[in-house]
Amino acid sequence: MVSRYGVTTRQKEAKVLKQKNAKYECPKCGKKAVKRKGTALWNCKSCGAVIAGGAYRPETAVGATARKTIESLKQARG
Ligand SMILES: [Zn+2]
Repeated sequence: MVSRYGVTTRQKEAKVLKQKNAKYECPKCGKKAVKRKGTALWNCKSCGAVIAGGAYRPETAVGATARKTIESLKQARG
């Protein structure tokens, strides 16, 4: 039995994968060098900023939270 649901899921997965592998603009330095580091974690290859955002793409709308995360990471590193 062929599942109709399976086709839809695969199409969705392809779309998500494309977003995951894409580079995004850094809210800090403005360069398109932000790559996914982990779930909801993004890292800018240019300035080294760590951005907490959406699971599959950075969400600049949560900039305040991201800044907090960056500050706490900096403090943890010393
Ligand atoms: Zn940057």
